[in-house]
Amino acid sequence: MSVNGNSIRQVCVYCASSRECEEAYFAAAETLGRELARKGITIIYGGGAGGLMGRLADAALSEGGRIIGILPRFMEELEWGHQKLTELVLVNDMHERKRAMLERADAVVALPGGCGTLEELFEAITWKRLGLYLGPIVLVNVQGFFDPCIELLERCVEKKFMDARHLSMWKVVENPYQVIEAVCNASPWAKDCRRFAVPGL
Ligand code: AMP
Repeated sequence: MSVNGNSIRQVCVYCASSRECEEAYFAAAETLGRELARKGITIIYGGGAGGLMGRLADAALSEGGRIIGILPRFMEELEWGHQKLTELVLVNDMHERKRAMLERADAVVALPGGCGTLEELFEAITWKRLGLYLGPIVLVNVQGFFDPCIELLERCVEKKFMDARHLSMWKVVENPYQVIEAVCNASPWAKDCRRFAVPGL
């Protein structure tokens, strides 16, 4: 699969650790894991065994897919890591993990989640704005979960904290079946985005 001439082999998925959220969110994680695995795309994710992360991983593995977890050592010590992954990469801390996840990613997908998921998503958007990450970013807006987040990003543009061109950095889809198409149709993004990274400069 290719986007703007670049092949998509590894997709990084950010999603919740929560084991208590609504089933609709779990179902979205399961569908995404299955769909990516069926396309032969390797999933990079946080390495957790539970929550949406666990459901994503189990679904990918049950389809014979490849899924790589990047887990800080302290989480491994707490036995939060999934034990059956294609590969589990242990890193020293949360910063190293986020960098390792993004550096391996040809595209990034965010499912609903808490502050961990939002932090990872916002880091990807920030890196893209600065030309440090150039791939697609897709938000899976299950049951309108991301509506306030998208509204806030649009407000950043409206209030001139960001440039209107930044709105094309991410794509929003309603369900996980639309993710691969959104990745393929992502707007091109190149390093010269640094020209308009800072409004007014
Ligand atoms: P949250 O959405 O706040 O539950 O955070 C989930 C995101 O942060 C995932 O994409 C992981 O990369 C990371 N993370 C947070 N908590 C955990 C955990 N218990 N196990 C594995 N990864 C976690």
